[in-house]
Amino acid sequence: MLTQVVKDRLSEIVGPKNIITNQGGMAAYGYDATLMSQVPVGIVFPRSTEDVSALVIYANKIGLILVPRGAGTNLSGGSLPLEGSVIVCFSRMNRILEIDPKNFTATVETGLVNFDLQEELEKFGYYYPPDPASYKASTLGGNIAECSGGPRCFKYGVTRDYILGLEVVLPSGKVIEIGGKNFKSEFRYDLTRLFVGSEGTLGFVTRAILRILPKPPAKRTMLAIYNKVEDASRSVAEIVAAGIIPTTLEMMDNLLINTADEHVGLGLPLDAGALLIIEVDGYDVDLDNQVRLIEELCKKSDVRDFKVATSQDEADQLWLARRTVIGSVGRRSPSYSLQDVTVPRSAFPQMVEAILACSKKYDLPIGILAHAGDGNFHPLVLFDERKPDEVARVHKAEVDMVRAALDLGGTMSGEHGIGVLKKEYLGLEFSDLAIDLFRRIKRSFDPHAMLNPGKIVDIVPAELVEKRKGTVDGTSL
Ligand SMILES: Cc1cc2nc3c(=O)[nH]c(=O)nc-3n(C[C@H](O)[C@H](O)[C@H](O)COP(=O)(O)OP(=O)(O)OC[C@H]3O[C@@H](n4cnc5c(N)ncnc54)[C@H](O)[C@@H]3O)c2cc1C
Repeated sequence: MLTQVVKDRLSEIVGPKNIITNQGGMAAYGYDATLMSQVPVGIVFPRSTEDVSALVIYANKIGLILVPRGAGTNLSGGSLPLEGSVIVCFSRMNRILEIDPKNFTATVETGLVNFDLQEELEKFGYYYPPDPASYKASTLGGNIAECSGGPRCFKYGVTRDYILGLEVVLPSGKVIEIGGKNFKSEFRYDLTRLFVGSEGTLGFVTRAILRILPKPPAKRTMLAIYNKVEDASRSVAEIVAAGIIPTTLEMMDNLLINTADEHVGLGLPLDAGALLIIEVDGYDVDLDNQVRLIEELCKKSDVRDFKVATSQDEADQLWLARRTVIGSVGRRSPSYSLQDVTVPRSAFPQMVEAILACSKKYDLPIGILAHAGDGNFHPLVLFDERKPDEVARVHKAEVDMVRAALDLGGTMSGEHGIGVLKKEYLGLEFSDLAIDLFRRIKRSFDPHAMLNPGKIVDIVPAELVEKRKGTVDGTSL
């Protein structure tokens, strides 16, 4: 509980309409898109960089923990408050400050929702390539903190590739501006990239200069339907090996085709083993050739049916199925766990086999969803969190999937981050030396562990190190 004095001071900084301290309101901000929750002791909505800086300076003075939050759609516990912490929610810092088509940049406040930016850019004939499936809700600040990917990332890359500059309030309260509108600049130590993907543990990102692109003149959206998920996964490997780079190459298996169709009623083939949604973009004259080539490759892996959308409406329907599929599993089970392992693209079929084996071994339905072109899997494990036996099996299946991805030369997280959810697995992928370096980086930005502590790695706050001097070697903490 915050004392009245603290509440008054916070309210003075952000304004009385921009603070929540009632129980109901606070409970609503105690969640993200995982199954975890923890009620904060307050929520503040800064309106400017100055507000954020003043909040941080005050928090340091009284020893308050602050946790940045965008829309709370992350899948790793990254925006969950620790006990006794205050959430700094960026949703009211959501202005587009400039769109500069001549320099291919947009400058935004980081509480802006990704989709709102895309809508505005559309008016200029431009777009911002990173498009997480959550783009109608998630904010650019969250996207930057998680280095989010999305369906278009196969061809265009992830958030990291589109951040040219940042304004950040450091855990000291000081404001730093890094990068700018230059398309090229040789950073000595690339601070911009260090902040991207740091999951809100190194600073509060208040503004960003983003790289935008002119919209491609034409595109084709294809639907490839397979009897078996293994056939679809062979097609993925074939397309990638042929050197074709579609804009998107997404896969859904039978379970997810069914839940998506129940949810949005699109008439998808309910008996199919899997489907691929494939999109290519560029100049109109090039595209039909690419479509023909992709169709031939799909036929080599026994595609059952191959269709090209004949209108934007048809293409939009397919994307609706893909973008809503995660939520649609709620129709089948009260709980789901969503994994995020990534493997080298050539190992795609082996990872599919490993997921199928996990489903069998632990007797759990697992839907296979993948940004297939990136080798990025989102296996959805369906279960009932009220049944401890099922929860234990889910946990084991998750560890098996992480291990299988690592054995194939992959990684435990492609785009959802470590947060608190995957912290315990960090040692499976990274050496002690690497984890120690992570801690040192965190400590050099945030020695008092006042900013989003307990995410990615734990550090002991500087004041405790000081107290323990002589008993504990501070350098090895
Ligand atoms: C249905 C669904 C589909 C999804 N699809 C994708 C997908 O295709 N690709 C993908 O990559 N992810 C996806 N996600 C995950 C999630 O949407 C992304 O991680 C997203 O970027 C989170 O944005 P957010 O605004 O909700 O951030 P939050 O969840 O609020 O926060 C995420 C992290 O960012 C930090 N943070 C937020 N704002 C700031 C800031 N201004 N400064 C510093 N740190 C900050 C938080 O502390 C936290 O650690 C999906 C999630 C759901 C529920």
